[in-house]
Amino acid sequence: MLAHLGYQDLDALVAAAVPAGIRSSRPLDLPAAASEPDLLAELKELAARNRLMISMIGLGYHDTFTPPVIVRNVLENPAWYTAYTPYQPEISQGRLEAVLNFQTMVADLTGLPTANASLLDEATAAAEAMAISVRAARGRTAFLVDQDCLPQSVAVLCTRAEPLGVEVVVADLAGGLPDGDFCGVLLQYPGTSGQVRDDRALVAEARARGALVTVAADLLALTLLRPPGEIGADIVVGSAQRFGVPMGFGGPHAGYIAVREGLERLLPGRIVGVSHDADGQPAYRLALQTREQHIRREKATSNICTAQVLLAVMAGMYAVHHGPEGLRAIATRVHRHAVVLAAGLRAGGIDLVHQEFFDTVLARVPGRAVSVVAAARDRGINLRLVDGDHVAVSCDEITELEHLAAVWEAFGCPAPDEEEIGRNAPDALPRTLLRSSGFLSHPVFHRYRSETAMLRYLRRLADRDLALDRTMIPLGSCTMKLNATSEMEAITWPEFSRIHPFAPLDQAEGYLHIIKSLETYLLSITGYDAISLQPNAGSQGELAGLLAIRAHHRAAGQPQRTVCLIPSSAHGTNAASAAMAGMRVVVVACADDGNVDLADLHSKVNTHRDTLAAIMVTYPSTHGVYEEGIRDICALVHDAGGQVYLDGANLNALVGLARPGRFGADVSHLNLHKTFCIPHGGGGPGVGPVAVRAHLAPHLPTHPLVPEAGPAGGGGPVSAAPWGSAGILPIAWAYVRLMGAAGLTRATQVAVLSANYLAARLAPHFPILYTGAGGLVAHECILDLRPLTRQTGVTVDDVAKRLVDYGFHAPTMSFPVAGTLMIEPTESEDLTEIDRFCEAMTAIRGEIDAIAQGTSNRSDNPLRNAPHTAQMLAGDWPYPYSRAVAAYPHDRLRLDKYWPPVRRIDGASGDRALVCSCPPIDTYAG
Ligand SMILES: *Cc1c(COP(=O)(O)O)cnc(C)c1O
Repeated sequence: MLAHLGYQDLDALVAAAVPAGIRSSRPLDLPAAASEPDLLAELKELAARNRLMISMIGLGYHDTFTPPVIVRNVLENPAWYTAYTPYQPEISQGRLEAVLNFQTMVADLTGLPTANASLLDEATAAAEAMAISVRAARGRTAFLVDQDCLPQSVAVLCTRAEPLGVEVVVADLAGGLPDGDFCGVLLQYPGTSGQVRDDRALVAEARARGALVTVAADLLALTLLRPPGEIGADIVVGSAQRFGVPMGFGGPHAGYIAVREGLERLLPGRIVGVSHDADGQPAYRLALQTREQHIRREKATSNICTAQVLLAVMAGMYAVHHGPEGLRAIATRVHRHAVVLAAGLRAGGIDLVHQEFFDTVLARVPGRAVSVVAAARDRGINLRLVDGDHVAVSCDEITELEHLAAVWEAFGCPAPDEEEIGRNAPDALPRTLLRSSGFLSHPVFHRYRSETAMLRYLRRLADRDLALDRTMIPLGSCTMKLNATSEMEAITWPEFSRIHPFAPLDQAEGYLHIIKSLETYLLSITGYDAISLQPNAGSQGELAGLLAIRAHHRAAGQPQRTVCLIPSSAHGTNAASAAMAGMRVVVVACADDGNVDLADLHSKVNTHRDTLAAIMVTYPSTHGVYEEGIRDICALVHDAGGQVYLDGANLNALVGLARPGRFGADVSHLNLHKTFCIPHGGGGPGVGPVAVRAHLAPHLPTHPLVPEAGPAGGGGPVSAAPWGSAGILPIAWAYVRLMGAAGLTRATQVAVLSANYLAARLAPHFPILYTGAGGLVAHECILDLRPLTRQTGVTVDDVAKRLVDYGFHAPTMSFPVAGTLMIEPTESEDLTEIDRFCEAMTAIRGEIDAIAQGTSNRSDNPLRNAPHTAQMLAGDWPYPYSRAVAAYPHDRLRLDKYWPPVRRIDGASGDRALVCSCPPIDTYAG
C-alpha cells in the first residue's frame, strides 16, 4: 500500500499528511499493551472487585433476567451489535423490524399511537418531552414537575431548561395544580416513592389550562395499570431497562418516548416507519428523516443522533419472547412480592407511607433508616435510604421470598408466615387504575414463544442485514472499525452487568478503577486536563462541553457571549447542541478547497467580537483533511475572547499523532463508539466523553445522587446515571489496554494509510473532492459523483444501492456535501477487503460509462434498478441486461452472495401515510 502511494514507510506518509504544527512529539503515556489472555485475567480481577448484591434500590433501575437466547443471539452477536444506523433500509430490514417491534410495544403499553426508536435514557426523554411542550405551547416557559418524579430526571430537566430560558417548577401536585401558566407538566407513574396515584383530575385540569401532560411511566407496571394514554397524557416517556436490559452501573438502556396524535412531527430522534419497495411490497425504513438535526441544524430542538438501538432491540425481543401473558405474569409476581413485603412489615409494626403501590414500598422508621439500610446490606441487600426516617424497598423480576425474609429481619420484624400473607393480602393497585385494555396483540408477540422459534426468528432477522460481520462498512464520519471479541467479553459478566448505578461506591471498586484509568488514558491521548464520561452519546458530550463554555463566560462576568461560530460543513448535531446550550449559531463558510474560509472567519469574528462564545470545529474536518490553519483558527477565536470547541468524533485520525488539548482547543467530545471500539449497535449505544482544559474543569457535569461523579458545584447532569453508559466502558478500556501506546499510534497511521490508498486507487474513476498537503487525505475521503450525475443521471443513491448487489454496505451519502460519497476504511480493513471494495467501485464506474456511451439504457440499467432481489431473478425478466449482470456482477459472488430482502424503497410515500407500529399481518402478500 505504501509502495502504491510512493512512501518509504508509515512515518514518511504521516509526516507528509499531518501538519507539523499539530504533531505531538511525545509518545502516549499508557501502560504497556496486554495480551488477550492477560487482558481477560485483568478484567476478571476487576470484576471480582465489584460486589454483587441484591438490588432493591429502585429509582428507575431494576434487576432483570435477560433471556439467554437474547443474550447470546442479540447482545453477544456481532450480526446485531456491529450494524450501522439503518439509513440504507434495503440492507437493514431485520433490525428495522426489531425496532418496529419495540415501537409497537411502547405504543401499546403506553396507550399512545406513536413511539420513536429509542432515546438515550429516561431523564433525557423527559427533557425531550419538556422541549416538545415548550415548542407546542408557544410563549409559555414554565414547566411543572411533580416532586415524586425521579430525582435524576428532575436534575437533567434543570440542566436542559436553564439555557433555554425555561423555568422548572417542582411542586407537590398531590393536592392539585398550583396557579400559573405552564407549558407542560411532568408526572411519574408509579411515583418515585412507590405510590400509584390517581392523577386523572390533575391531568384533565392541566390540559384544560393548555399545558401538555407528560407521564414518565414504568413499562412493566403498565401491563397491570391503566396506560397514561387512556387518562389523557399527551406524551409518555421512560426507560425500557427492566425489559431484559442489565443495569450495567447506569446504562446503556433504551429510553422511550410516545406521543398522542398530532404531536408526531415534533417527536425527536428516529422513527421506523412502514413504506413499500419498487414492487409494492411492504418494507421498513426510517420515517420523517427531515426532522433530524442533520437537516434542521440550528432550528432543531433536539440534538439526538446516536440513540440506544441495540438495547431497544433487546427490550422489544424480551416482549416478543414473553408475550403479553408472560409480561403480565412477571409484573404480577413483582407486585405480589411487594404486597407480601408490605404485609410483613405492617405485621411487624412498621408504618407504610403509601397503601397503593406497584413494586416499591416506602417504610417510615423514625431515626432508624440508616441502621435498617446497614442491616440489609449486611444481609447482601441494597435498600434505598430516602432520609433519616424513611427507607424504600423495590421488588423486581429477581426478587425471591428469601430476599423479603432478609428485609424483614433488617427492619427488625419477626418472620411472618409468608404463605399465609401471600394468600390473604389483597393487591395494592388502585381499582380505578387497573388496566382493562389489551396490548401486544400483534402476531409477532405470539409466534416466537418457544426457544426454537425465537432462535430462528433472531437468526432470520439478522440474516436480512449487512453488518460489519459480513462486509466492510465504508462510512465516512462514523468510524466503523473492529469491535474485538475480547473487548466485548466483560460486559455480560454479572459483576459488571448487575450493578445498580446508585449502589454504594465501595461495591463498585472494579468499575471505579476502569472509570478512573480510562479517564487517565483519554486525557493522555487528547492532552486535556479533565474529563467526564457521563455523556451517553457524542451529542450529549457536545451539549456538556458547550454548557461548560457558557458557565465559564458567565463566571467571568461575560454572559453576553452567546455567539457560536460553526463551519457550514459541520455535523448537524453541532448546531443543534449550540442552540440547546442557549447559543446563537453563526455559520462560517467553507472555501473551495474545503477548509474553513479564513477571510469569512475573520469577518465573523470581528462582527461578533464582543458576543463571541465559541467556535465549533471538527478536526480533521468533516471534509476528511487535516486543515493546516487550525492553530490560526484557535488563536483568532481566543484573541476575541471566545473558546474553541473541537469536535473529536474523528479522533481516529489523531490518536498518538496529535493532541487537541495541546494544539489550541479548550474542549472536545470523543465518541468511544467510533474511535474506541464500542460497537455501533445499529444506532446506539454510545459514549461521548467531554474533555476540557483546566479552566473549564469546574463546569463539567455532576450528578445529584453521586457527588463523586463530577466537580463540586459543577454543571448539573446531562444523563440519568452518574457515569452514563458505564456498562460498556470496559470495551473502550480493553481496547486501550490491548493496543498500548505504540499500537494505538500505529492504528492511526494505518487508518491514514488505508484512506490514502483507497483514495489513490479510486481517484482515476471518481474525483477526490478535497485533499490536504501533498494531495493526501486524512482518515477518510470524499468521492465527487456530481459530474457523472450531470452527464449520465446516475445518482449517489444508484451507486449506493448497486453496491448492495456487490455485497457491500454503502458509504456515507451526501454528507457533508450533497451528491458525494464519503469513505473511511479504518485500520481494521485488510488489503484484500479494501481491494475488493475498490474493484466493486471500479466496476460500477464501468457501468456508469456504459450509460454515458449509450451501450446501457439511461433509465433502465443495473444501477437504476439496484438492488436486485432473488424474487426479481425468479420472475419475468423485462430488463435489457442479463440476470447474471444483475446479481452476479463479480465472480467472487458465486460463493458468497448477499440477497437483499426488498427492492429499492420508496421513502416519500412512507412519510405521507405514517405507520410506525407493526402493520397488520394481512398487509403482507401471502
Ligand atoms: C458521530 C458524530 C457526532 C455525533 O455523535 P453521536 O454519538 O451520534 O451523538 C458529532 N460530530 C461528528 C463529526 C460525528 O461524526
